[in-house]
Amino acid sequence: MTSAVTTAVGVPRSSPLARRAFSGAAAALFVLFMGNNLPSALYGLVRGILGFSPLTQTLLYAAPVILVILPGLLIFGTLSDVAGRRALVLGGLAAFAVGDAAFMLAGDTTWLFVARLAQGLGVALATAASTATLSDSASGARRDLLRQLRRPRRPGHCRRCAVAVDRPGDRDDRRGDRYRGRLRGAYPARHPAGPDSGRGVLVVQGNVTVTPAGAATIHTYTAPETGWRANSHVIELASQVVLFDAPLTEAYAREVLALAGSLRKPVTRLYISHAHPDHFAGAAAVGAPSYALGHVKDLIDRSGDVRIKRGYACTPGHSHTPLPRNRPVDHAVPPSAEQTLDGVRLRFEAVADAETDAQLTMALPDAGVLISQDVLYNGVHMFLGEHAFDSWRAAITRLEALPYETVIPGHGLPRGNWLPSGRGIFTANREYLTVAARAFAEATGPADLNRRLEAAFPSYGGTAMQGLQNFYLYPSASL
Ligand SMILES: [Zn+2]
Repeated sequence: MTSAVTTAVGVPRSSPLARRAFSGAAAALFVLFMGNNLPSALYGLVRGILGFSPLTQTLLYAAPVILVILPGLLIFGTLSDVAGRRALVLGGLAAFAVGDAAFMLAGDTTWLFVARLAQGLGVALATAASTATLSDSASGARRDLLRQLRRPRRPGHCRRCAVAVDRPGDRDDRRGDRYRGRLRGAYPARHPAGPDSGRGVLVVQGNVTVTPAGAATIHTYTAPETGWRANSHVIELASQVVLFDAPLTEAYAREVLALAGSLRKPVTRLYISHAHPDHFAGAAAVGAPSYALGHVKDLIDRSGDVRIKRGYACTPGHSHTPLPRNRPVDHAVPPSAEQTLDGVRLRFEAVADAETDAQLTMALPDAGVLISQDVLYNGVHMFLGEHAFDSWRAAITRLEALPYETVIPGHGLPRGNWLPSGRGIFTANREYLTVAARAFAEATGPADLNRRLEAAFPSYGGTAMQGLQNFYLYPSASL
């Protein structure tokens, strides 16, 4: 196995940075758990000195858990995505040290409670950030295990609308829809045919990540595995919402619309990046006028129904789902164009011969944000159906030369999997294509190719696309 084969997206799993982060987080957790629990044996002794009741002793033990640790874990996981893991771990250790000092100097039970609450605050702060760090640093099965243990990690947090996303759907779930994202607060469910809802809480099967982009806010919906983990974007402007791509199924499209509806602004446009069904099949659920490159419009208008039907037939999870109706595209976008809406510039560029022959990218140049769609993936097996390995790598390099600091891919979470800054995504995608080209050249058939890719990238999602990919890669094989 080569080093490229074992490379995760962005930063190699064995990098010194990853090892340091893992060791530091593990050490912080060890110190805090030992420090929090070891003194329990001493409470009886202290009780004898200060003369408090057995009930007070029980409260001393339980109060920090109920009052600080449990609510803190819910809050600080989100905070660590915004403020950074290191700041929260260090803050937690500092709070714990304050608690220890209060313990040492305590002359009555009031100070003992103050000490315990300060320790609880330290544990909550550092545990939320440390477990997130451990999960970020781990790989394969270890990472999956940590993700299941870890509740408060959030892929995104929006300061403006105070949205927190619970239980992100980035587990490697080969069978699809086990995970669910929960949006709280500012995403009240208002769409009558939308996802499950109740008392201001919108529950969706996909995953939502919020990216601030200057005067705009990008709410990215990452579909579950049965939606091929494709990204649809809800771009929130001052007075309106613009959509970029519609998911594979009507159910997921309704979730995107519910998300857009919760912003209480009209959806005025739907841009479609390319003619793969995970990016246009849900368009019929959207009422706003739609836009795509002229060539992409032609493909969808002429063969959209066939593409949807093939995509559903070749991938799992759709055998009992009615095919969505193909919606022809309303307007053509020139290959290089710019549109200003609510004072926000949207720049469109065509990318040729990458994942597909023609696709649209959208940039918000004033905020340094590029939505690359399927030129780039994150933590998801790239769709190789058009096997343009070399030209796709070249297209990635051309995109890398553009001056954007924040890059949002077409599949997989916009952040995470070692992509804190987003720039590492270019190298990671080129490496995947290099490995995949070799795997395709050496594979004896579709099943062998699947096995090789899964062995090379064991933590990646997107295996649901393999059937459709092999339909194109092995046209003469019976799949
Ligand atoms: Zn796609």
